[in-house]
Amino acid sequence: MLKAAVDLQSIRDNFHFLRKKTQSRIMAVVKADAYGHGLKEISVSLASAGAEALGVGTVREGLRLRDSLDRVHIYSLLGPMEEEDYQIIRSRRIIPFIHSWEQLKALSEFSRACTQKIPVVLKLETGMNRLGFRAADLQLLLEHWNNCQGLELDMLVSHLALTDDPLKQEKVKSQMEAFMKYCRAFADKGLEFKKSIANSAALIGCPETHLDVVRPGIALYGENPFQAKASGSKGRGLVQAMHITAPVLAVHELKAGEGVSYGLCFTAPRDMRIAIIGCGYAHNYSRLLSNRAWMLYQGERLPVLGRVCMQLTVVDATCASGISSGDRVHILGGIGKNAVSARDMAGWWGTVAYEVFCLLGRNPREYIHRG
Ligand SMILES: *Cc1c(COP(=O)(O)O)cnc(C)c1O
Repeated sequence: MLKAAVDLQSIRDNFHFLRKKTQSRIMAVVKADAYGHGLKEISVSLASAGAEALGVGTVREGLRLRDSLDRVHIYSLLGPMEEEDYQIIRSRRIIPFIHSWEQLKALSEFSRACTQKIPVVLKLETGMNRLGFRAADLQLLLEHWNNCQGLELDMLVSHLALTDDPLKQEKVKSQMEAFMKYCRAFADKGLEFKKSIANSAALIGCPETHLDVVRPGIALYGENPFQAKASGSKGRGLVQAMHITAPVLAVHELKAGEGVSYGLCFTAPRDMRIAIIGCGYAHNYSRLLSNRAWMLYQGERLPVLGRVCMQLTVVDATCASGISSGDRVHILGGIGKNAVSARDMAGWWGTVAYEVFCLLGRNPREYIHRG
């Protein structure tokens, strides 16, 4: 019932927008099925737009991608997690991020039987406190690296805790300093490697973090990390690529005082026209949007009334005189000033644009090819 249309030209336009902001190489992040937009289609578009590298999540995602793209560099941000991942890394030329001793030792062991060196990225912990080798590991890591004859150091990376808060600039600085310290220690050993730490927010907001490679994700899909901030102008020009529509199944009157949907938790304050829309939480249109969201019909915002059901949602269509069953409404995207951005929906839903894309993008997708 739901249709997700992904505009590939918007993805390419967003790439070019970011391209103008940096001299560094761009690793376009396409993990988690390209944030719900479709791994293969998005990756092929980005590669044609000039992305030097692509960042998938799991090694398996890298395997899927290699079948469509033979020449681009593919990095796995999570690195090997399953036994068979080591074989895939080698045979399909996936470059893994390595964050643990277990991964490093297993990959090094595996590389002994290989004729060519396996390029790897070492992930370093600088303040996010999630994955990565820690400062206390550094000496041992440098010593151990000498024994990893079958591996080649492609890049050192870390990940910023920064999302969109300019007040967190101090934290960015301290993460950068910690990262550069690691980099110096490796360089002092005579090693050569690329350096990378910037995500979308850092690419747009902190030029000093760009280094050799930047790793934008969410901005490629059109979300401006700074939108709600005083610095919002920084990411202006990014365009959301995902547009989702749902069908109008019925239109009828609701008399003042009547309730609607489960629990009758919305009561009509006046006579209204309502439309029953074929979308619900079975399509990842969350029940948390009950009584809180809006849909778009011919440029007008229609408020959701009452509870979102499994496959149905009710909206107030009083202002939409022409609406009838068989029409479609936008639940995400659309055009004009009332278009529903992922950020709008995230606000109603109590989440972030990332989750809106990942979840709603699981609906059947079609692609718009322009330009
Ligand atoms: C997801 C991810 C990114 C991209 O982050 P955005 O905020 O979407 O730009 C970059 N690097 C790593 C390691 C990631 O996991």
